Parts: sequence; C-alpha cells; structure tokens
Amino acid sequence: MKTIDNFDFNNKRALIRVDFNVPLNNNLEVTDTTRIVAAKPTIIKILEDGGSCVLMTHLGRPKGPEDKFSLKHIVDTVQDIIGVNVKFVNDCVGSEVEAAANDLKSGEILLLENLRFHPEEKAGDPGFAEALSKLGDIYVNDAFGTAHRAHASTAVVADHFPENKCFGYLLAQEIVSIKKVLETGEKPVLAVLGGAKVSSKITIIENILDKVDHLIIGGGMTFTFIKAQGGSIGDSICEDDKMDLALDILKQAKQKGVQVHLPTDVIAADAFDNNANTQVCDVTAIPDGWQGLDAGPNSVKRFGEVVNESKTILWNGPLGVFEMESFAKGTIALGDAIAEATANGAFSLVGGGDSVAAVKQFGFEKAVSYVSTGGGAMLESLEGKVLPGIAAINK
Ligand code: AMP
Repeated sequence: MKTIDNFDFNNKRALIRVDFNVPLNNNLEVTDTTRIVAAKPTIIKILEDGGSCVLMTHLGRPKGPEDKFSLKHIVDTVQDIIGVNVKFVNDCVGSEVEAAANDLKSGEILLLENLRFHPEEKAGDPGFAEALSKLGDIYVNDAFGTAHRAHASTAVVADHFPENKCFGYLLAQEIVSIKKVLETGEKPVLAVLGGAKVSSKITIIENILDKVDHLIIGGGMTFTFIKAQGGSIGDSICEDDKMDLALDILKQAKQKGVQVHLPTDVIAADAFDNNANTQVCDVTAIPDGWQGLDAGPNSVKRFGEVVNESKTILWNGPLGVFEMESFAKGTIALGDAIAEATANGAFSLVGGGDSVAAVKQFGFEKAVSYVSTGGGAMLESLEGKVLPGIAAINK
C-alpha cells in the first residue's frame, strides 16, 4: 500500500482529494469540523516536507454552482485548523485555477471551489479528470467518505499519475482498520450488527459470516429473525419478506461455525414514543400492541460477556432506538462493554451509518480503537466490495 510516507514532497504540489463535506448552519458556518481535523496530519506532513497542497472536495449536493455550497464559506475554518494561510480559487478547473496552482510555493495551500459545481465530477468524466490532473505533481486520496464512488476526483484522476499516486494517512488508517477486522484480526472476532432493517445489512452479514467467530444481531433486525423462528413479536418492526433469508443466515452461520447471539429479552413499549409505557418481555412473547425497542437486561448481560471474550470487535448499528432516552440503555451498555474490552487490549472498529452517531452521542469515541469516517464507504467495505477510490491507487 503506497502512502504519503513513500514520497518526498519537497518542491512538489500534492493534489489532495479530501472530504470536507462538512455541515454548515444557516449562517453558513461550519458546525462540525471532524472531517477537516481528520485530514490535518496528511496536509501537515506534505507541508513539512517542503511541498504545497491543492485541496479538492465536494460540499453538499449542489445542482450546478450555488452560493450556499461554495467552499469559500469554509476557508477560515480550514485555515484555523491547519494553522496555515489558505488561498481560494472560484473554480476547480481551467486556466486561472492552473495559474494559481502553478504559483504555489513550498508550504502553501490552495483550496479549490466545490467539485460538484461541475456535473462531470460525479459522472467520472475523463476530460474533467484530466483538467484536475494538471493541478498537481502527486495525487493523494485522503477521502474515505467518497472512496466508494468512481468520480473524477476520487478515482479517474489517478490514471494521470501512474507512479505518483498514494493514500493519505486518513484513508490508509481506514484501510488498515478494516483489514484488521476482516482479515488479520486476532480471534475470537465478533461483529455486532444492529440498526433497523435486515435488508440494509444482509450483504454485510453474508460477507462477514466467513470472517467472524461470534455475531450479535440486535436492534430492529432482531424481530425478523425471531418471527421467522415462530416467536410472537407483537407490533415490533419486521420485514416479513426477509424471514426466509433470516432462516438461511442462521443455517449458514451454523454450517460455518459462527455463534449467533440474538436478544432473549427486550424492552417493549406500547407506542413508538420516549414516554410510552414499557415492560421487559421475552423476545418470543411480545404481546400485541407492544413493540420491542431496546435489548432487555438479560440480553445486555449476555452480549457484554461475548464482547468481553472477544479480541477483535466490529460494531455497526445500535441495539435499540437510541435516539430516545428510554430505549438507549442497551446501546450504551454495549458501548461500555466494547470500551472495557478495548482497554483490556481488544481492537474495536465502529463504523457505518448510525453507529458513529451513537458512539459520538454517548462519548465512546475515545474509548474504541477506531471510528470510521465513512458511512456508505464503510458499509460497502464490510460488504466485501472493492472501493473504486482504493482500487484506483492500488492498480
Ligand atoms: P441503521 O441505519 O440500519 O443502522 O439503523 C439505525 C436505526 O435503527 C436507528 O435510527 C434506530 O432508532 C433504529 N432502531 C434500532 N432498534 C430498533 C427497533 N427495535 N425498532 C425500530 N427501530 C430501531
């Protein structure tokens, strides 16, 4: 794997695809700087080598040039975080942009305007990729959040740098972390899959059955499995058309020697509401009019024991409706257990969709080994797909 450590950037311009798709408030101020902070080590290494940085990213989903999606709104924030003056150009391709990139001196940073102001970016247009390629000597991809897209700046542009292309530190760290879980992880390997639906996690489950020793299934997905096995799930969320699939997963898991742990009890509520009446039920005997919205105390205890025994842990998806305080306890207890296992030497990776939100909300970020920066890209990696942004550097 080629990273920025394989290059000396002295007097070179690095063309870096970053993911600065940050949230802005109504005053167009950045409200979460995580993604900018995450790219800092890559930028600093290049500047310290004596190189310069041309930063390219998208922001939001503009339909052509739209002021509210202009990257000019984030220049000051990037500058404050990196601690270096940041120049800005009003476009990302063309002669003026090339002149600005050519004028860069060692230690300088140029931020380009939103890549998605040009529809050619998402179309992966070769001509647009070639125009971008004129802006740097070495192409660096440090945007995991868009690595699952074959866009001009994330994949196609790499063709113009056959020797001079590499991963930034952030993307390299994501690749290493996924590998640590899916390929080289110390056994026993545990995957915890929660969240709402079997249908959105099915490809992940099928892919990881070959790689894990234990699989905890929680959240709304639980009830499709329980109903398929003949349990009464009351009004709990269920995908009836996925019940055969659920049984097949359990059969496959058995054949592959994977131990599957489903909740045995749940916190059931008489409405999808934080203030609903609740009771602890056996997961196979939920009364009509009640729905399971969190893992129950026995399940949480058992899950904690499994976590405790594991040396490598992947966590994707909450165990309950964590957005409501009344149904967050299972997810919090799981996070506590994973934090404790990590402190005792396990490797833990959290990623994909809402699990990152849960981890941040409850402050487990620092207590797990790695929190992925890419929702969709992480899910596709766990599904076993080769991400175009990663393939473009490796080929
Ligand atoms: P996902 O994006 O698939 O990881 O799903 C996350 C969502 O699943 C969260 O918004 C949770 O509120 C929801 N969820 C978790 N458990 C349940 C449940 N038992 N019933 C309904 N929704 C759930």
